[in-house]
Amino acid sequence: MTRRWRRPRLTPARLAFAGILLAVVALLRTCLAAPLPPGAPIAGPLPDASPPPTLALYQLPTGVVHRRASSAYRGGSFFETRDSAATAALVRHPNGDVLIDTGFGRSIDAQFAQLPLAFRAITTYERARPAVDQLREAGVELRGLRVLLTHAHWDHTSGLVDLPESGVLVTAEERRFIEEGGVRTVIARSTPSVRYEEYGFEGGPYLGYPKSHDVFGDGSLVVVPAPGHTPGSVIVFVSLPRGQRYAFIGDLAWQREGVFEREERPWVWRLAVDSDEEGVRAGLVHISAIASSFPALTIVPAHDLRAFATLPLLRP
Ligand SMILES: [Zn+2]
Repeated sequence: MTRRWRRPRLTPARLAFAGILLAVVALLRTCLAAPLPPGAPIAGPLPDASPPPTLALYQLPTGVVHRRASSAYRGGSFFETRDSAATAALVRHPNGDVLIDTGFGRSIDAQFAQLPLAFRAITTYERARPAVDQLREAGVELRGLRVLLTHAHWDHTSGLVDLPESGVLVTAEERRFIEEGGVRTVIARSTPSVRYEEYGFEGGPYLGYPKSHDVFGDGSLVVVPAPGHTPGSVIVFVSLPRGQRYAFIGDLAWQREGVFEREERPWVWRLAVDSDEEGVRAGLVHISAIASSFPALTIVPAHDLRAFATLPLLRP
């Protein structure tokens, strides 16, 4: 006689057991894993740039997500608080201002409610001033502003709804991801007022990336493809008039340790947020090789408060 299989009932005890099992597997994977291998050094010098003398770069903090170092990169301590920045960056160029990501906008509370329960249950955040208010106070003309997304996740696109006059620069891959990315891009998708402007990579190789897009044609703002975290993720290189160089790497790594210690996100987070784990890994190895080949280049992971602290605030 055969017994019919019945789906096991999800009791609180069974859920707790599954949670503990997942935590043990995650811990084992973290403890047993080695850092990623170093990449081949990049032959210098840095690519040429002729930024206009008035070009300036600012940080616009819009809030933080409360996290621990252990959730940001493998080997991070569970006992170390490591807030995750939701910060936009503004490039002021005489031919038009460009905001790199938006951070949290005015509607973040309502948007957060649209995210999956499992994510909300482990996430608390704190709001600061939305980018639109900081821009207005500083007299930035919103009509001429363009937003350049490193990628389309919630904490990078929350403020798009506040900037309906601004064009939003995205790659074709990321535009498709916004439409087809399910819950991962629900915030961008449910913002109907956005005017997207797709761009391609018509420029040549840049620092080992196969192609590039030079936004102003003077090397001051150059975008390269870095797919993995999302299909259309990019890295944005900024060159300032006095020679300072920055690389906004989006969520390729959440914190600097991801790049400088070559420690990827913990396994559970890779499963939850990365579209292509191998793509992220290759991207991390390459950016870490760039970082060690060019120590003067400031690497800015999108959620690292220490990296953003190297930039001035936008003041009225
Ligand atoms: Zn992301």
